[in-house]
Amino acid sequence: MFDKILIANRGEIALRVIRACRELGIASVAVHSEADADAMHVRMADEAICIGPNSSAQSYLNFPAIIAACEITGAQAIHPGYGFLSENQKFVEIVEEHGLKFIGPSAAHISQMGDKITAKDTAEKLGIPVVPGSKGGVATVEEALKLADDMGYPVIIKATAGGGGRGMKVATSRDDLEVAFRTARSEAKSAFGNDEVYMEKYLQKPRHIEIQVFGDGQGGGVHLGERDCSLQRRHQKVFEEAPGPSITAEERKRIGDICANAIAEMGYSGAGTIEFLYEDGEFYFIEMNTRLQVEHPVTEAIFGQDLVREQIRVAAGNKLSFSQDDLEINGHSIEVRINAEKLPNFSPCPGKITAYHAPGGLGVRMDSALYTGYSIPPYYDSLIGKLIVHGRDRAEALARLKRALGELIVDGVDTTVPLFHALLEEEDVQTGDYNIHWLEKWLDANMS
Ligand code: ADP
Repeated sequence: MFDKILIANRGEIALRVIRACRELGIASVAVHSEADADAMHVRMADEAICIGPNSSAQSYLNFPAIIAACEITGAQAIHPGYGFLSENQKFVEIVEEHGLKFIGPSAAHISQMGDKITAKDTAEKLGIPVVPGSKGGVATVEEALKLADDMGYPVIIKATAGGGGRGMKVATSRDDLEVAFRTARSEAKSAFGNDEVYMEKYLQKPRHIEIQVFGDGQGGGVHLGERDCSLQRRHQKVFEEAPGPSITAEERKRIGDICANAIAEMGYSGAGTIEFLYEDGEFYFIEMNTRLQVEHPVTEAIFGQDLVREQIRVAAGNKLSFSQDDLEINGHSIEVRINAEKLPNFSPCPGKITAYHAPGGLGVRMDSALYTGYSIPPYYDSLIGKLIVHGRDRAEALARLKRALGELIVDGVDTTVPLFHALLEEEDVQTGDYNIHWLEKWLDANMS
């Protein structure tokens, strides 16, 4: 096992990793930008090192500074959290070249899943059902028109290098296709420096269902069920739950086993998430994330497993500590993402926190790096906390979420908390009857 781990991240996820280290008896090293000198992860870690100025490019994405911080502190492994360097193949290679361990999958697996066309191809070969679409990239408008005519409208054009919901355009008929194709390409070019796009059938009312998987790179592969993350704004998740309200035990076993077998066959090591759209009882692969997800706590809640501890154990060369038969679902869990944003436009709202009080009690978990007097810097993501509740069933989880949101105090900045208060009053949210378009429609009707 490692003696010391460096956490190449900030905010709540850095705290999450520090907590796992502490329970394992491993020392933790925080890295931080100048803007984050007073951040909670810096205070909570055993050691902290400043790795650069405010911008992420010069700090949290600064390879040489992070490697040097490992060398100075004697950290043997790096946990990347999510975002930043967590899916950066080049970084993983450099980490390994320096004799350090990256807590995550191999560079080869990251790159295989990083490019969406290769990912889809790999998934298909592993027996995972995919969204019908182009075989590989689509280079010209003519090619796109021909494919769409064969496939039937609507279609979606997506960036091969895509992420964060960018570089995606829907065409509902032949008339929109040329514009959609050209816009997707130019967005892809400016966001990712790569204008390659591909085409998929556009599913009209799917749910976003993702399967949590874990491998140990030694033949072991399991799944930890699904999360339903259909409540999205601009393709970004805001409310996640496990188990999915629409998924039966048989469906979970069917798709879960396919994913677990794929992971074992790939020799994949660490945590991963295989994302699907789910419509009319069918699952369609869209992508795989080769890292820990923001919403991992809902899975931890219902399975009673510490996923970060497992990531660390597996990276240190251990086999998985649980088998598929050990994994049993207990109750229901919901997470809401609390952002420092001003409604109705969700504009970022950094600033000083004049009062902070986290909710508590049975089945309530608040993952946040806030404290009273803390100033949220304007340079990074606007996520300031995740409120996770666990109940014996979905109704209890919903009631607990309402109660916990009522206890939460975040004064000094605007947050997305009022959105959740309002959503909990909606019958469709109460019954779990929503798809990936539900929230956008609701926002149009209620917040514009
Ligand atoms: P990103 O990596 O940018 O997040 P994804 O491929 O994961 O892109 O898709 C993000 C979201 O976009 C999905 O959760 C879904 O809401 C929507 N989406 C993607 N592909 C399709 C499709 N074929 N049909 C309908 N919606 C889609």
